[in-house]
Amino acid sequence: MGSYDIAIIGAGLAGSSAAAALAQRGWRVALIERRTLPQHRVCGEFLSPEAQHSLRALGLYATVAALHPAPMRHATLVSARGTRLHVDLPDAAWGISRYDLDLALAQGAVQAGATLLQGATVTDMAIAPTHATITYRMPQGTHTLHARTAIIAAGRNPHAVLRPRLPDPQAGHRPQYVGVKAHYTGVRMPAHVELYLFEGGYTGVGRVASSAGEVVNVSLLATRAAFQRAGADPLAMLQATAAWNPALAERLAGGTLLADTLVAVAQVDTGRPGVAWDQVARLGDAATMIPPLCGDGMAMALRSAELCVPLADGFLRGTLTREQWQAGYTQAWRRSFARALWVGRRLQSLLATPYLSDVLLHTGAQLPPLARLFVHATRSREVAVAGGS
Ligand SMILES: Cc1cc2nc3c(=O)[nH]c(=O)nc-3n(C[C@H](O)[C@H](O)[C@H](O)COP(=O)(O)OP(=O)(O)OC[C@H]3O[C@@H](n4cnc5c(N)ncnc54)[C@H](O)[C@@H]3O)c2cc1C
Repeated sequence: MGSYDIAIIGAGLAGSSAAAALAQRGWRVALIERRTLPQHRVCGEFLSPEAQHSLRALGLYATVAALHPAPMRHATLVSARGTRLHVDLPDAAWGISRYDLDLALAQGAVQAGATLLQGATVTDMAIAPTHATITYRMPQGTHTLHARTAIIAAGRNPHAVLRPRLPDPQAGHRPQYVGVKAHYTGVRMPAHVELYLFEGGYTGVGRVASSAGEVVNVSLLATRAAFQRAGADPLAMLQATAAWNPALAERLAGGTLLADTLVAVAQVDTGRPGVAWDQVARLGDAATMIPPLCGDGMAMALRSAELCVPLADGFLRGTLTREQWQAGYTQAWRRSFARALWVGRRLQSLLATPYLSDVLLHTGAQLPPLARLFVHATRSREVAVAGGS
């Protein structure tokens, strides 16, 4: 295959947006994706307000706004015992189906001039001082591609691409979660995102715009123990969480699950140490994953692309060395995300415990400034936080 300035591995939010922004700057970009788009993904599809700043910076705001996202202005958390905390969002968040969003961003990259290779699984990457050699597998066989440099945006399990694999001695000791998502019709839903807590996880509910019309996203993250308790089946898990949190059952009453939208993932590791650079820059979940209940993973993916693109551009122009790119990106990554990751991980474990979640929501409802502080602290970018109650 041809030769490129930069190869980007993974056409999720981080990879496609970085590919679009670098192609807009005139670079020859190869965007390599193992799936064929579009496809449904396990995600709450809640695009937090700060993501809109990144979309503007990456030249992709109009592309996403054209999907007519469903606006959401409030977040409501409901404990298994029925305690509610209602928080106003700092600005309107967007609900958009990943089926459409990922496709739109990948198409945005192609329109900007990137080459998209779909159904191409990267199996190896060798980084030399002057070039990167990427090996990928397609149904027809194995191919090699050369680029001056590369970026990893391969999502939650980036290890498959990197050699040598980074040591992570705690990997086997951290809890692993199961994620499930489905779209529903017939659910009456205000312009809120709602999080229903249960022992070992939460289920999120929110309106999303999709090419199939406006639907309601129901997605959950649960410990393996909770998944086993529910019968170790994605559909049974969705039904069980409604039984474990009666307010959720009430919300979903009369709704119909769209069977072709039901997807599940296992081995979700929300505690992986953050690694913004290992041989090359890592964007989005490839660097690390924020607990999904913060609703900030997609914004982080876009923000990491926003941080990395100007430095990658400087490197390709010859105005920055690889070491300067690495130092600049690593520092900016830490400044933007370290606090949100720390707070988000602690919140996730507190909210997964029925008694503690109840106390926390009750306290937040009594002390709105405290609730606002927590929301603020889980954001990857400085934004003004409006009132809560
Ligand atoms: C249950 C759950 C609910 C969530 N809810 C929300 C939410 O409401 N709001 C929010 O902001 N975030 C949410 N998230 C997190 C969010 O989905 C991720 O943070 C986001 O998708 C990260 O984007 P990314 O581009 O880094 O990775 P991804 O979107 O995972 O994209 C990575 C891409 O790389 C490709 N790839 C992987 N390996 C290879 C390879 N070897 N070769 C080629 N391609 C490869 C994959 O196919 C994929 O397309 C949720 C996550 C879960 C699990």
